[in-house]
Amino acid sequence: MTTSSDLEPGTLPPGTADLRAQVREFLAETPFTARADSWLTGADPAFSRLLGERGWIGMTLPREYGGHGRSPLERFVVIEELLAAGAPVGAHWIADRQTGPSILAHGTEEQKRRFLPAIARGECFFAIGMSEPDSGSDLASVRTRAERDGDGWRLRGTKVWTSGAHIAHAILVLARSAPASRNRHEGLGQFIVPLPDERVAIRPIRGLSGEHHFNEVVLDGVFVPDAMVLGRVGDGWRQVTAELAYERSGPERLLSTFMLVRLLHGRAGDRAARRAIGGLTARLWSLRQASLAVAGALARGETPELPAALVKDLGTRFEREVIEVAREHAGVEPDPGSPDPLARALAGAVVQAPGFTLRGGTNEILRGIVARGLGVR
Ligand SMILES: Cc1cc2nc3c(=O)[nH]c(=O)nc-3n(C[C@H](O)[C@H](O)[C@H](O)COP(=O)(O)OP(=O)(O)OC[C@H]3O[C@@H](n4cnc5c(N)ncnc54)[C@H](O)[C@@H]3O)c2cc1C
Repeated sequence: MTTSSDLEPGTLPPGTADLRAQVREFLAETPFTARADSWLTGADPAFSRLLGERGWIGMTLPREYGGHGRSPLERFVVIEELLAAGAPVGAHWIADRQTGPSILAHGTEEQKRRFLPAIARGECFFAIGMSEPDSGSDLASVRTRAERDGDGWRLRGTKVWTSGAHIAHAILVLARSAPASRNRHEGLGQFIVPLPDERVAIRPIRGLSGEHHFNEVVLDGVFVPDAMVLGRVGDGWRQVTAELAYERSGPERLLSTFMLVRLLHGRAGDRAARRAIGGLTARLWSLRQASLAVAGALARGETPELPAALVKDLGTRFEREVIEVAREHAGVEPDPGSPDPLARALAGAVVQAPGFTLRGGTNEILRGIVARGLGVR
C-alpha cells in the first residue's frame, strides 16, 4: 500500500492543456443546465451521448472494446472540467468511473463486447447494487442471496440508496452465494442484472428537495445466467474492493460544490468575505494537487488506498465548508427557483450536502483506513 509520505506530486502530461481547451470549448458551445453535485444529480442521457461522440466516456478503455486507449490523467482533465462547469454527467457517471473498468478487469469476452462499447458511446448506464438496509459500512454483511438454479443464479434481497437505478440499463449486484463462514469476505459474488426486469422492483427514494436520484431495489428471484456473473463467484469481496478504489479516488470528491466557489469569486463582498473565499481557494488548490497525485499513482498501477481515503475525507469536508462560506458571505438565500445562479446552485448544494461525507464510504470508515495504513490501529 502507498502511504501518504511516499505519494509523488502529480503532474499532467504534455498535451492535456489542449484537451482541457477542447472540453472548455465544447462546454461553451453546448447548452446544458449546470448544477452543483452534477455527477449525482445531473442526469441527461442526450448530454452523455454527446460526450460519448467526443470520446470523453470510457476514455481509458481499450480501443478494441470501443474505448479510447487514453491515460487516467487525460480522463482526470476531462472530468475536472465537466465537474467544474456543473455539467450533467450523472447518467453515465457510474458506468464510466467504475463498472466499465470492473468489467474490463473481471468480465468475460462476451461481457466486454456487450457492455463496454455501449458504455463508451454514453448509451449504457449502470447502477451500483452494494448497500442494503442493514449493510452499508459493513458491506460484507449483505444479505441478498444468490442461489444456484440450473445454469445460473436466482437473486433475492433488497438494495438501498441505489443511485440512478431508475435510468440504468443494468445493475451490478453484490450478493452472498454461500453462507457466511468465519471469513465473511468469502462466499460473495457480483452479478450483472440488465434492467428493466419484471422481477426487479425499483422504487424511488426522494431526497430533501423531493427530487428522485436514488432508489430501493427489490430483487425478487431474478434469474442471472452464468454468462452474466462478473468474475468468479466467491471472489466478490476482492472485486468489490477494487471497484471501491475507483469509486473513492476521483476529483468528484472535492469538486461537487466547485460551482459555488466560482460564482462566489464574482461577489467578493467585504473583507471578511474575501478572506473566507481566498481561504477556500487556497485549500482547493492544495486538495487538487493531492487528488492529482492520487490519480498519478493510479495511472502508474499503484493502489494508493491511504492517500485516496485521506483526500476523500478532506475533500468532502471541504465541499461542505464551501456551502457554509456561501451561506455566510454570499448575501443570497438558497432558492431553486431564483434567477440568480448562485442562489440556485446553493439550493442544490444544501440539500445534497448531508450525503457528501457518506456516499462511497463514510468519513469515519475512511479514517479507519488511514489509521490502519499508518499502523496506529
Ligand atoms: C447520496 C448517496 C448515494 C448513494 N449511492 C449508492 C449507490 O448508488 N449504491 C450503493 O450501493 N450505495 C449507495 N449509497 C450508500 C452508501 O454507500 C452508504 O450510505 C454508506 O456506505 C454508509 O452506510 P449506511 O448508510 O448503512 O450507514 P452505516 O454503515 O449504518 O453507518 C452509520 C454511521 O455509523 C458510522 N460507522 C459505521 N461503522 C463504523 C465503524 N466501524 N467505525 C466508525 N464509525 C462507523 C458511520 O460512519 C455512520 O456515521 C449512497 C449513499 C448516499 C448518501
